[in-house]
Amino acid sequence: MSDHETPPDDKADNKTGEAGPEPRWREDGALVSDRFGDVYFSRDGGLDETRHVFLKGCGLPERWQSRDRFTIAETGFGTGLNMLATWQAFRDSPGQCRQLNLISVEAYPLTRSDMTRALDEWPELGDLRAGLLAQYPPPEPGVHRLVFDGGRVCLTLLIGEAAAMFGQLRARVDAWFLDGFSPSKNPEMWREEVMDQVARLSAPDAVAASFTVARAVRDRLSARGFACNKAPGFGRKRDMLVAHREVLIRPEPLPDRRFAIIGAGIAGSAMAAALAARGQAVTVIDPHPGLERAASGNPVGIVMPRLHLGDDPVSDFNRSAWRFATAWYDRLPPVDGAPALTDCGVLQLARDADEAARFQRLARLPNVASRSGTVVDGEQVHFLTGTRNEHGGLWLPEAGWVRPHRLCQALRQHEAITVVDKAVARIRPSDSGWDLFDATGEVILSADVVIVANGLDSRLYPQLDWQPLRPKRGQITELVAEAGHGPNCITTFGHYLSPVIDGRRIVGASYDRWDDAIPANWPDVRDDSDDGNRAALAAAMPALAGMLRHVIGSRAALRATTPDHLPLAGSAPDPEDIAAVLPGLYLLTGLGSTGLVTAPLCAETICASLFDEPLPMADTTSAAIAPARFLERVAKRGQVTV
Ligand code: SAM
Repeated sequence: MSDHETPPDDKADNKTGEAGPEPRWREDGALVSDRFGDVYFSRDGGLDETRHVFLKGCGLPERWQSRDRFTIAETGFGTGLNMLATWQAFRDSPGQCRQLNLISVEAYPLTRSDMTRALDEWPELGDLRAGLLAQYPPPEPGVHRLVFDGGRVCLTLLIGEAAAMFGQLRARVDAWFLDGFSPSKNPEMWREEVMDQVARLSAPDAVAASFTVARAVRDRLSARGFACNKAPGFGRKRDMLVAHREVLIRPEPLPDRRFAIIGAGIAGSAMAAALAARGQAVTVIDPHPGLERAASGNPVGIVMPRLHLGDDPVSDFNRSAWRFATAWYDRLPPVDGAPALTDCGVLQLARDADEAARFQRLARLPNVASRSGTVVDGEQVHFLTGTRNEHGGLWLPEAGWVRPHRLCQALRQHEAITVVDKAVARIRPSDSGWDLFDATGEVILSADVVIVANGLDSRLYPQLDWQPLRPKRGQITELVAEAGHGPNCITTFGHYLSPVIDGRRIVGASYDRWDDAIPANWPDVRDDSDDGNRAALAAAMPALAGMLRHVIGSRAALRATTPDHLPLAGSAPDPEDIAAVLPGLYLLTGLGSTGLVTAPLCAETICASLFDEPLPMADTTSAAIAPARFLERVAKRGQVTV
C-alpha cells in the first residue's frame, strides 16, 4: 500500500535496477522501501487499513460465504499482512466456503527476519503469523504453494515480476487486492501488461479494491470491463477504489463427486491425501496396498532434487516439484514418531573435473543457492564422508530419505480415504462416470472421477494403452554397516549410498532395461545387480567398500519411465480424438525414479484442475506434463518420441 503522504525526508532516491527490496524502518516505526521511496502500509494502522480497503472494499467476508471456493489475488505480497488479515477473516467467518485460495506476487521478497519484525506489530494475528513465517519460502523465483489449515487455505506465492508471473498463471480470480506502492512511485505495477493479466485471470463477476484512485488505474480497469467507483478511504485518505466486473455468467458451484484412485504407491497415496485435504471422500484400490511392486515398496527412498542448468519445461518442472516437495514434507505429520523426511543432506560426488565445473554452475542457481546448496571441496567431502574425493562435490542440505512404504500408508491414513485391496482389470465409462471391474467381470465400484496411478499396469486398460511407458528395473543392495564408519548423509556417485538406517546401509540402484513381461515370481533379485552396485561403490568410495562387504538383502522394483523424462499427470486424452479428453479420467503415471519428489506436485496439479484452483506451476510447465502430449506428437510425427 502507500499512504501518499510520505514526508519529505523519506523521499529516498529510487534505486531501480539494484537487487532486493531495500526495506528500512523509519524512526516512527514505518517500514519503507528505499527502492520505491514508499511505505509498505499506513502508520494510521496497517491492519485496520487492510480490513477497510481490501476486505471491506471487496465485500468480504460476505462474498465468499455463499461460495464453495473463493480465490483472491494480490499485487505485491510485501510483509504478508493483507494475506494474514484475509486468512484470519476467513477463519472467523468462512460461511459455506470450503477453500480459500490466495495468490500474491512479489518481485523483491523481504527476508524472513524483516517480515518477522514487521509482523511483530500485530500480535492479534496470533498463530497465523507464526504459521506464515514457518512456511515462508527462500527467495527462489517461481511458483510457491503454501498450504494452511490442512488445505482449507492455500497461498500461491509467485516470486518474480508481476506481469511475467501472472502471465504464467492459470487461475480464476474472484477478488483483487490491488496493492503495490502508489502508481506515481511504482508505475511498473500498474502498467497495461499487469492490467491485461488482471483482466485475463478475472472471473466474470470479479471485484477489485485499491487504496489508489489514480485516474490511470481507473481508466485501465474500465477499459477491461470493470465498473470503477470511489468509496471513503482509510485514515487520512479521502477516497479508495472499488471496482466490479459486470456479471456475464455466474459459475455453477461444483457438484459433489465420487473419487476413485487406482494404485496405492506414492502417486496414488499422494493423490488420495490431496483429495482428502480438500474434504473429499476417496477410495484407493490396489491388490497389494503396502506391498508395492514398484519402488514405493523399497525400505528406503532417496528424496533429492534433479538439477538442471537449462531453462526448459523439464528443468522448470523439476525445480517446481522440488520446491513443492520440500514444503510438502515439512507439513506432513510425523511418521512412526519421526519426521516423514529425514533431511540428512545429500552429497553428490563430482566424478571428474567436468562434473565439478557443472556443480559450480548449479550451485549458483537461485533454486540451489537460496536453499543453502553449495559446492564443497575435497577436504569438506572428507569431513562429511570420511573418504577422499579429488573433485569435491555438491552439498544439498535439504535432501534426505524416507521410508516410502510407511510414508504411503501414512498418507492414506485419513478418515476420508477407504482402501480396497482388489485388482482393477477393466474400466468402462458409465452414464455418470466410470465403472471399475475385477477380473471376473464384477463391478468393484463406480466413481465420477477416476485417477489411474498404478504405474506400468495402467497400460493394461485399452483406453490408456497408448502410453509410452518404459519399464526400467532398479535393484537396491543392503549391506551390513559397521558403526562409526562412513557418512551420515546420503552420498551419490551415479549410484547412492545411504547413511546407516536400521543397522544397514543401502546402495542403489541399478538402472536396467526391462523389455520382458513381468514374471509371476517378482521380485526377481539378481546377483549381477548387487555386484554392479558394489562395484560402483568401490570405484567411488574405495575406503568404504572394504567395510561394506556383506550383502544382507536386495530388492528389485520396476520404474515406469517416459521418453521425455516427465510424468503423465492430468486429464486422459481420448485416443480417438486427441483434442478431447475422457471426461472424469485422469492419469498420474510415468514418475520414473523421482516419484517421491514429483508425485506431490502432480497430485496438487490434478486437484487444481478438478477444483478450479490456481495451478501450482507455470501454465507451460503443466502443458509439458499433460498426458495428451504424447498423442499429439504421434499425430504430428507418426511416432512416440521426445
Ligand atoms: N500487500 C503488502 C503487505 O500486505 O504487506 C504490501 C505491499 S507493498 C505496498 C508493495 C509490494 O509490491 C512490495 O513488496 C514490492 O516489493 C512489490 N512490488 C513492487 N513492484 C513489483 C513488481 N513489478 N512485481 C512484483 N512485485 C512488485
